[in-house]
Amino acid sequence: MMIGCGRAGEPAQPPHGEPVTDKPISSLPPLEPTSNRLSGAPSASVKPPASSPPPDEAIDSLTALRSFVDPDELSVVFQPIVSLRRRELYAYEALVRCSVPELRAPPVLFDKAVDNGCTGRLGRMIREIGVPLAAGLPLFVNIHPRELSEGWLIQPDDPVFGHDDDVFLEVTESVPLSHSDLCSGVLKEVCTRGGVHLVVDDLGAGYSNLKHIADLEPAIVKLDRQLVAGIDHNRRQRELVSAVVDLCVRLGAEVVAEGIETPEECRAVIDTGAHYGQGYLFARPAFPAPLVQWPGDEKPTDPPPATERSD
Ligand code: C2E
Ligand code: MG
Ligand code: MG
Repeated sequence: MMIGCGRAGEPAQPPHGEPVTDKPISSLPPLEPTSNRLSGAPSASVKPPASSPPPDEAIDSLTALRSFVDPDELSVVFQPIVSLRRRELYAYEALVRCSVPELRAPPVLFDKAVDNGCTGRLGRMIREIGVPLAAGLPLFVNIHPRELSEGWLIQPDDPVFGHDDDVFLEVTESVPLSHSDLCSGVLKEVCTRGGVHLVVDDLGAGYSNLKHIADLEPAIVKLDRQLVAGIDHNRRQRELVSAVVDLCVRLGAEVVAEGIETPEECRAVIDTGAHYGQGYLFARPAFPAPLVQWPGDEKPTDPPPATERSD
């Protein structure tokens, strides 16, 4: 079946019933300037958090960051998240890219930032690049757990609070999290500031803890690709994912299945009741934000933008 995307139709209903405008993909705002890199050095002029860490440490965090990466070497790409039920674009996820070869993988870049005590500064810099490029679109943004204890995200001038559409903050389950890492108080406080929602990312990977879903009350849970890969030819995996989706729904969360690569996986994921999907099947991360390729479509409705080669 041909599946359209971004057509005018029923407005997408985000979690908790707030309206999200249904935007045809063709109405993506012009991404001006046409660069997905930081122009100038706005991060250098951003005031450090007033609370934690102390100002001198926060200023040092920029120096620490610059010791292994220059802001010019960072950029942001976007990958669509689609509504599997309405067959429409739902939102985009922002993903950092680094042109330094040994820091190309985002988790390696963040490990380096953790080692240098500048995770919060790096996250803020990424949001300064990515959020303005997604004006007018619901946007998923990854937050490293360590950022939550560094005091950056709660700053009122953070780009996420100025975004003109819903923002979904993804906190990963793929690294071991202590209670203090999670800082559920920070997350809950941030999510009371209208239009900001919490997402538990990578459920089913590494160090997942189902209790976090009960404790954090996320609006959305993203199932890791480990639960999705090969789901179409593994009945027990389908049962497992169906049960996890059911559990999430009972706990008040909608579900995104990540890493969908084939039409067969997509069909099996839909059968589990998952609400949204993301993966190479629909589009690889790219800048400008790519069009959605639906299974069965021979080609996107418009010429595809240049896709990122690294994925
Ligand atoms: P994630 O947030 O779960 O992002 C999804 C990852 O899966 C991305 O890898 C994406 O390129 C990849 N992916 C998407 N569709 C498919 C697919 O169909 N098949 C496969 N095999 N992979 C797919 P990426 O960009 O390398 O990011 C890896 C992880 O790094 C992210 O996982 C996230 O945890 C972290 N990360 C990326 N960007 C940021 C960022 O800006 N901030 C923070 N804190 N973490 C980030
Ligand atoms: Mg993510
Ligand atoms: Mg994920």
